[in-house]
Amino acid sequence: MQYDGGIGVSSLDNETTLQELKEIVLEFQKKRNWTPYHKPRNLAISICLEAGELLELFQWGDELNDDTHQLLKEELADVVIYCLTMANAMGVDLSESIIRKMEKNAIKYPVIGQVVDGIGGI
Ligand SMILES: [Mg+2]
Repeated sequence: MQYDGGIGVSSLDNETTLQELKEIVLEFQKKRNWTPYHKPRNLAISICLEAGELLELFQWGDELNDDTHQLLKEELADVVIYCLTMANAMGVDLSESIIRKMEKNAIKYPVIGQVVDGIGGI
């Protein structure tokens, strides 16, 4: 499966807010009494561990089949779930953080010339 560089169209992504996802994750964790373990250090480690599981899918190559693409979706979800958990635990408004960070990125990485295959031109 090749990365096409596009943004996939998903009705759930269009219909679900970050706040709703944060609440789903928190409710799941509260029912299991996991929140006492959600210290920043533990969550930072967990984000990295799940990112490692995502990276492991590419250990021996960059081609994905249907099975490994499903695993990619699951590991990507694990990473995001831990990011949402960190945001819940630390009181972070993720939407604000992402928008502010993208504004900083736009300053740090200005568009210069024509972009060809993701590489800035002249
Ligand atoms: Mg995982």
